[in-house]
Amino acid sequence: MRLVRFREGGAVRWGVLEGGRVRPVREFRYELPLEVEDRQLPREAVQLLAPVDPPRNVFCMGLNYLAHVEESPARKVPPDPVWFTKATTSIVGPDEDVVVDRTLTTQLDWEVELAVVLGRGGRRISADRALEHVFGYTVLNDLSARDLQFARGGQWFYGKSLDGLCPVGPVLVTADEIPDPQDLELWLRVNGQVRQHGFTRDMIFSVARAIEDLSRGITLLPGDVIATGTPAGMGFGQNPPVFLADGDVVEAEVSRIGVLRNRIVFTGSPGSSGPLHRTGAPD
Ligand code: MG
Repeated sequence: MRLVRFREGGAVRWGVLEGGRVRPVREFRYELPLEVEDRQLPREAVQLLAPVDPPRNVFCMGLNYLAHVEESPARKVPPDPVWFTKATTSIVGPDEDVVVDRTLTTQLDWEVELAVVLGRGGRRISADRALEHVFGYTVLNDLSARDLQFARGGQWFYGKSLDGLCPVGPVLVTADEIPDPQDLELWLRVNGQVRQHGFTRDMIFSVARAIEDLSRGITLLPGDVIATGTPAGMGFGQNPPVFLADGDVVEAEVSRIGVLRNRIVFTGSPGSSGPLHRTGAPD
């Protein structure tokens, strides 16, 4: 089942996408089966929102693909998953503009990731039962302000949580349609040019291991979103580094899910209050 979230009148609804038409879900919960209404809406008639509604910050794994570890300043394979979070207010939907204040960052980077949405929560979930807790999968672009990320003591929160820096979508594919999340292919394109291409089988910590590790210490909730890390090809890892510019169109894609497309819009003038950390980034 391919689920979408959209606005109708003043309300936010979930729907099932079937051949170009959306059938509204009667009462959404993170559990199948879902009851749908009889009426159908043409896909073009609805504005899609991010197909997630997490109860708290998005959990994210860092450094989860070997080739990405090698291009990152860390360069050391972590013995255990590395966790950070993105604020829920950073989430934007498919085709929504990512509006970024140039006085905060001039080093905006991309990271295509497979995102997991939990159905059943729990504590101390074992890896061999972990996929039973997954409701579905979607695409997430872990947009990152590298200048903010490497300033401020090296923390990852602020530079990855600015408003707009978490595009998610376009659909949430239920887990029954993706029996093996380690058998997916990922791409990221900027203005049509491929910048990242990877396979989820190359994750250092699988989706199941990630859920096991996180739930050892934190009670997981229905609707929690877990971003599972990015393969190689981030702009910061290029020589010289490449960053997103005003008007760039970024497409993050995961096989069997779809293409998440967003345009980057920079506002503000770098001269007005000055970027917080100038490192000669291209504009
Ligand atoms: Mg990431």
